[in-house]
Amino acid sequence: MRQSQTLLPTLKETPAGADIKSHQLLLRAGFIRQTASGVYSFLPLGKKVLTKVEAIVREEMENAGAVEMLMPALQPSELWKETNRWDNFGPELMRLHDRHHREFALGATHEEVITDLIRSEINSYKKLPLTLYQIQTKFRDEKRPRFGLLRGREFVMKDAYSFHTNDESLDEVYDRLFTAYSNIFKRCGLNFRAVIADSGAMGGKDTHEFMVLSEVGEDTIAYSDSSDYAANIEMAPVIDRYEDTKQTEIDELALVSTPNQKTMVEVASFLNRPLDQGIKSLLFKIDEEFVLVLTRGDHDVNDIKLKHIYQAVEVELATEEEAKNLLGASVGSLGPVNVKNVEVIADYSVKSIVDGYCGANEDDKHYINVQPERDLVISKYEDIRFIKEGDLSPDGNGIIKFAKGIEVGHVFKLGKVYTEKMGANYLDEFGKSQVMTMGCYGIGVSRTLAAIVEQYNDENGITWPSAVAPYQIHMLTMQSNKEEQVELAEQIYTTLKENQIDVLYDDRKERPGVKFADSDLIGIPVRLTIGKKANEGIIECKIRATGEQFDIHISELLGRLQ
Ligand code: ATP
Ligand code: MG
Ligand code: MG
Ligand code: MG
Repeated sequence: MRQSQTLLPTLKETPAGADIKSHQLLLRAGFIRQTASGVYSFLPLGKKVLTKVEAIVREEMENAGAVEMLMPALQPSELWKETNRWDNFGPELMRLHDRHHREFALGATHEEVITDLIRSEINSYKKLPLTLYQIQTKFRDEKRPRFGLLRGREFVMKDAYSFHTNDESLDEVYDRLFTAYSNIFKRCGLNFRAVIADSGAMGGKDTHEFMVLSEVGEDTIAYSDSSDYAANIEMAPVIDRYEDTKQTEIDELALVSTPNQKTMVEVASFLNRPLDQGIKSLLFKIDEEFVLVLTRGDHDVNDIKLKHIYQAVEVELATEEEAKNLLGASVGSLGPVNVKNVEVIADYSVKSIVDGYCGANEDDKHYINVQPERDLVISKYEDIRFIKEGDLSPDGNGIIKFAKGIEVGHVFKLGKVYTEKMGANYLDEFGKSQVMTMGCYGIGVSRTLAAIVEQYNDENGITWPSAVAPYQIHMLTMQSNKEEQVELAEQIYTTLKENQIDVLYDDRKERPGVKFADSDLIGIPVRLTIGKKANEGIIECKIRATGEQFDIHISELLGRLQ
């Protein structure tokens, strides 16, 4: 591609409102432009990388036995009503209606659409298992679209769905796709961990997230380098409905653990569950401030013995009345709140807890996300072990570390959650009607692109790993008015193209300094500079990631590049 003929608008300055590297660099290097909040255009270079990531995803999915299809983004509300998600998905679901006032959603995900399709097309065990996937635009009206492609309101997702006659078959496909995901993220050059995730909200069983280790990640994970153990400790940072809630810094996180890892994750991730799954809210007055704490348990609120506060969010509220209102809002928007005193036991690193209030409501489905503040834990469980960064892991191997992660992928054994509600049945070998078992598997394709940039950049720009780089070679002439330079460049350009080597040719009439700076910013792995030695057939080669530079004769070029 000739640079003079494409749309590649680079920027010298960091655009306002872009807080993190990937967002800044993708804008500055001319890969993306914002159209609306959380909505982006992929410019030619951005589209090239997106296509490369998609190609890796396709290859690995096909290797794992999944078959590509394409479903509509426009989805009738009736399907979402069958699973109750029309009500339960909340404001993240983009809704609209047609000219006849029929309601639709813009697809945030496709469990309903695919289950509807499968229930009408598959009726025999002979046609199962079946794994289908698509790469498609998803819409989610995120409360806070931010960080560029990392949290958009319109984004590209690869979503796959598998249907089975039994759990063993689901386990098998799950494992296969788990491996495919590991391959995909490895091939993208990412440093990531597959972590045990919380299955509470979706009601399924096993689930793992693929987390790219990065300071800008919104999740916190516990992992160890010398163990396979890794878990998400579900610290969703968004505090819905409490705009004025102050979030505090994480000093130290505590992870609740039992010898059984699963319980550990369940307990550790309770904070993201809907209240109707047994979450209690607790409110404490600490000095003049109130602290809202969520806990989980099947116990009577009066019995809670507060040994530790696991996670707390400080809420700046002037009066107790306001605090009670907040508690009411958090658990009581669909019913009355039960506020009682609870017994408070010492052993706090928090100095003085004066009062304890506790509320719970069975019907409320709202999520409350809190930010951890202190390394304390609330629990009634006797067998709980508290582990912190630096402790041994639950499987006895290695030392626990905490890190921030970007969720790029998510695999989920849904079981019969959707198939039962939607009546996706098949006839087994005895002619008996049975409910299908289901799995779902997502990858944030556009988020993955941004996560790569988070891990591959330096002070001059992006340093694309070769597998996903927009081009393999960036070629430029020092002086575009020197005939011998242009001639040699044209010759190399033709040769590279003939050999299917993807090359971006900076043929603009710009100063060398401008071309070099743009080239570093864009981050193509190899730069070829055609300058003074053009008449000797010698060009300069620079490796973007390492900065290594050397001269090379045109006769050796192809051999070196292939
Ligand atoms: P998050 O916790 O970041 O909100 P999620 O758990 O809601 O993500 P899933 O429903 O698991 O997302 O969707 C599958 C994948 O889609 C995620 O693993 C993520 O990579 C990607 N994804 C989800 N939301 C967004 C978004 N707003 N922008 C870009 N990618 C997203
Ligand atoms: Mg989400
Ligand atoms: Mg998530
Ligand atoms: Mg997820």
